[in-house]
Amino acid sequence: MSNLHTLSVAEIATGLANKDFSSLEMTTHLLGRIDTLNKDLNSFITVTTEQALEQAKAADALRAGGDTRALLGVPMAHKDNLCTQGVLTTCGSKMLHNFVSPYNATLVDNVANAGFISLGKLNMDEFAMGSDNEKSYYGAVHNPWDLSRVPGGSSGGSAAAVAASLVPVATGSDTGGSIRQPASFCGITGIKPTYGRVSRYGMIAYASSFDQAGSFGKSALDCAYLLQAMSGYDAKDSTSIAKDVPDWVAEIHASRTADKPLAGLKIGVPTEYFGAGLNDEVSSTVKAALAQYEALGATLVDIHLTSPEITLATYYLLAPAEASSNLSRFDGVRFGYRCDNPKDLQDLYTRSRSEGFGAEVQRRIIMGTYALSAGYFDAYYVKAQKVRRLIAEDFAKAFADCDVIATPTAPTTAYQIGASLTPSEIYMGDVYTIGVNLAGLPAISHPIGFDKQGLPVGLQLIGNHWQEGKLLSVTDAYQQVTKFHQELSDIAKS
Ligand code: GLN
Repeated sequence: MSNLHTLSVAEIATGLANKDFSSLEMTTHLLGRIDTLNKDLNSFITVTTEQALEQAKAADALRAGGDTRALLGVPMAHKDNLCTQGVLTTCGSKMLHNFVSPYNATLVDNVANAGFISLGKLNMDEFAMGSDNEKSYYGAVHNPWDLSRVPGGSSGGSAAAVAASLVPVATGSDTGGSIRQPASFCGITGIKPTYGRVSRYGMIAYASSFDQAGSFGKSALDCAYLLQAMSGYDAKDSTSIAKDVPDWVAEIHASRTADKPLAGLKIGVPTEYFGAGLNDEVSSTVKAALAQYEALGATLVDIHLTSPEITLATYYLLAPAEASSNLSRFDGVRFGYRCDNPKDLQDLYTRSRSEGFGAEVQRRIIMGTYALSAGYFDAYYVKAQKVRRLIAEDFAKAFADCDVIATPTAPTTAYQIGASLTPSEIYMGDVYTIGVNLAGLPAISHPIGFDKQGLPVGLQLIGNHWQEGKLLSVTDAYQQVTKFHQELSDIAKS
């Protein structure tokens, strides 16, 4: 059995450049794994086999013809809320079960222009609403470390596919933690960049003032390769920011040459993020990781942030409010699911929406519509917007005293599929990740060990605006001296 699937992005790029293997061999090998393993994992909704093989052949031909793009022919896969021309884009919903996008999301084009080849579209919670990937119309995704457990969500398919070595890297989106929490549950690295860094054009909206795409990989370096390809200003997204994209891969390599790469780094540790609700084993694993950071030369400083419970309430008011407005376009008229034999227009709207959306999406639309309705708007929506500002100000104050902030990514490790948690118990799992989205900050989650059941634990590092390079280099410094990111589940090794 070939071990091509365990190679990092850099190793694949080198192997392709040295002609150790072709993109076609690499792609065929991974498609074979997907064919065998996706039955158990359910991480892919669509596998674009023919298209991927065509692209791999084309990449090999271009390389032979002198094309020197380093990433030419490196495989990856996209979360299924990213529009891909001519390919099914379901957003994990029955509402879009038949939606073939007529255009590519800007980031999909960017990734292809860098030379990457897409193997298909990855499972997710419906419309990116969820934390466990059990809310997908296409069924639950299974965690490669323990198939009876959730991979996290909403980008659970992306995290599971990378953790199971079906693809070296994958895209995801993060509105309240949907990259970082599944990265934590699946024992891989995942980064959500600063709001405005990656174009949202062609990424199906959940909550537009929070949504941001990012990357998954086994290491910070792998994440950097993909994020760099995805990022950049786009005139088609009015919230995209015209800022140069630094060479994060080069930044990581430069930081490796330092004697003590983290000397002088101040890591803020918010007391409020270590309170009730944090699992003991997660807490002790996080403390051990922080001690490792100190050993690398960093200093820990106590800081204070808005209580995560207040942050959680603010998010679960504003995000559903935006969702209720964004999702009004799915009315059964222009595209997507349409109910059978509507009596009249009202019946068409009502039944298409109640048959096309799952229970969690309907819950969010109802919560959001309530918060925006006359009489409640000032008391809920406007109030929450004001609290959002205070939360962002608390982060800004904290960054006066530290360079990065460290917290647990999630209060627990991966739970059982079908564990009948109430919606609010599930929402509580997002307490440590959502503040970042309210403030538009970049953050990364990386693996730092395992609990007694052998399930991965993640650490979240939060940076100030535009500090993705710092987050990636700091994580890389940790990964240079630890092995947690190299641990593979039996499935990933198989
Ligand atoms: N789990 C959070 C939610 O359900 C975040 C989802 C996301 O980041 N897309 O809203």
